[in-house]
Amino acid sequence: MTNKKPYDYLIVGSGLYGAVFAHEAKKKNKKCLVVDKRNHLGGNVYCENIEGINVHKYGAHIFHTNDKFIWDYVNSFVPFNRYTNSPLANYKGELYNLPFNMNTFYQLWGVRTPQEAKAIIDEQTKKHRVKKPGNLEEQALSLVGEDIYHKLIKGYTEKQWGRKATKLPAFIIKRLPLRFSFDNNYFNDSYQGIPIGGYNKLIDGLLNNIEYRVGVDYFKEKDNLHRLADNIVYTGKIDEFYDYCHGELEYRSLRFDHQILNQSNYQGNAVVNYTDSDTSFTRILEHKHFEFGMQKNTVITKEYPLEASNKNEPYYPINDTKNSNLYNEYKKMALQDNIIFGGRLAEYKYYDMHQVIGAALAKTKKLFQNQ
Ligand code: FAD
Ligand code: UDP
Repeated sequence: MTNKKPYDYLIVGSGLYGAVFAHEAKKKNKKCLVVDKRNHLGGNVYCENIEGINVHKYGAHIFHTNDKFIWDYVNSFVPFNRYTNSPLANYKGELYNLPFNMNTFYQLWGVRTPQEAKAIIDEQTKKHRVKKPGNLEEQALSLVGEDIYHKLIKGYTEKQWGRKATKLPAFIIKRLPLRFSFDNNYFNDSYQGIPIGGYNKLIDGLLNNIEYRVGVDYFKEKDNLHRLADNIVYTGKIDEFYDYCHGELEYRSLRFDHQILNQSNYQGNAVVNYTDSDTSFTRILEHKHFEFGMQKNTVITKEYPLEASNKNEPYYPINDTKNSNLYNEYKKMALQDNIIFGGRLAEYKYYDMHQVIGAALAKTKKLFQNQ
């Protein structure tokens, strides 16, 4: 007599990694149970409808990718709109366009041509040029020079990460484009948008007809949950999974202050960054603009950065040398275990949504290649 467990896979975490994994496994006739310790599905892309507006409860989420397959994949669950992210920076009351482009250079220096802008940036970067920038400050100064660094990068970066820019990895600032055209698109990718009707539609589509339980913490119910499936997909913190045996990985967290305002348009844009060091929040989101909403009222969110602890959520891995070395210790353990670790927390990677989806699709493709 076989005593087969009721599910093929137990999936810990209902964010994009868990949801895509479950969807692809189901297509191969695998029975999955998804559990999440939060009281809703979707992980950090979850939206709550307030005043008829899809409020991004865990910060602004703008989908972008260069991969047509991934774009078509997400659009097969819900059509995406044509939203283009063009945040503004507010530095002590002065407004600048982002990312760094001809509009920004005009606002900073009054220059009207790429040649004039390049001449200023060349002048400001020449003494900072190094072969291989060793940290975020060196990288930024060598790319964009002093004015942009001091007005638009240093203050924002140091409050966002709670660390000196000289202690942060250089790659973080390379997320932002630098271009010599009048183009305020924050991303260089070919495809970009927001799911029409919000991200919950994407998650609902992925998890259609898949069993789930919310409000279930894997660590509190481990023994019971292990009775349900032999195969585990884990998308929570990898250091927590191993009971912090090598020490705690550092994460940056955020406190979200959501407010309903009795006015139709607060800031005229979905995202405004506050790049000075005195303002304690990093950005204000106005959610209706993600979907061109015309509601009577508006909902805004201020994002206040803070260090992650057991009282708040780990949102950003801090991929500096110390934490990367520590992560490698956990990764060695993970390679010995018969468990699938995936997503931003389990892989300790500053993944965007399309990258998490890509990673889950690659994993399931490999796993089920002969089925
Ligand atoms: P998550 O969404 O974090 O899901 C993990 C899930 O696991 C969570 O729901 C958690 O509750 C659950 N879990 C953890 N531990 C346990 C446990 N012990 N038991 C049960 N459940 C558990 N990406 C973009 O492409 N564009 C953007 O504009 C963008 N903006 C972002 C803004 C912010 C503020 C943040 C934090 C991220 C942003 N991202 C953005 C990144 C994006 O959120 C992630 O790439 C993606 O959502 C990660 O999916 P995931 O499944 O790996 O993790
Ligand atoms: N950044 C900055 N000024 C800005 C916006 C971003 O210095 O106005 C830097 C900052 O270090 C930030 C990084 O660029 O952490 C990446 O920005 P992004 O908007 O991609 O951050 P996320 O949306 O992931 O929080």
